[in-house]
Amino acid sequence: MTADTREQELRDNLTSVRERIQAACVAAGRPEDAVTLVAITKTFPVSDVRALAALGVRDLGENREQELKAKAPDCQDVTWHFVGQLQSNKARSIVRNASVLHSVDRSSLVKALSRAAVDEGRVLRCLLQVSLAEYGPADAATGVGRGGVAPADVPELAAEVAGADGLELGGVMAVAPLGSDPDEAFGGLEVVASRLRSEHPGANWVSAGMSGDLEAAIRRGATHVRLGRALLGTRTPLG
Ligand SMILES: *Cc1c(COP(=O)(O)O)cnc(C)c1O
Repeated sequence: MTADTREQELRDNLTSVRERIQAACVAAGRPEDAVTLVAITKTFPVSDVRALAALGVRDLGENREQELKAKAPDCQDVTWHFVGQLQSNKARSIVRNASVLHSVDRSSLVKALSRAAVDEGRVLRCLLQVSLAEYGPADAATGVGRGGVAPADVPELAAEVAGADGLELGGVMAVAPLGSDPDEAFGGLEVVASRLRSEHPGANWVSAGMSGDLEAAIRRGATHVRLGRALLGTRTPLG
């Protein structure tokens, strides 16, 4: 495919995705600017990243530290989000290359992130990844990337992030379990998010909804949708 054809494809996909988001906001009685699109560019080349930025996408995300580190320095005029599972020894790289982390799920990670952020003189906005496993089918194995902190443990982890130097508590993130009803799962997240906001009014982001379930997420109060396939097309798995 030539660069022009790819750019046209991304432009068309972006138009349809924006229309979907807009329609979902209207249907939910929410203002159209209530939802931010985060383009998840994992497995796609940096040329796509640049093309999306040129088309006006301001928020981009990756789920592997190696890929973030490879792409972010080439595209600095956007906000980078990290949405993947994170080992504590990669905290510094995330702090250097991303402004928002969607997957804070444990205390040891908070400590590593805080140290790295202080050392680097940066502030990292942190979303707590909440497990919605209770909404999945009882017999399903928990899929990779569908972890997170149990809803009952959110207040304690939130207090830790809120009190950590170099970190800013931004809100919650979740992935609807495979086989769940996304309205129910994101409904559960909505309750967790609202409790969190009552304690921490600034923690008002709700990162929920991917290519397959963004409408349900927007009905349930998502402020950020994370879209890969709907924007960039089918992914070829990395080794
Ligand atoms: C890949 C990924 C997405 C995007 O998923 P699509 O189904 O391609 O839209 C969103 N969130 C996370 C955490 C991901 O890893």
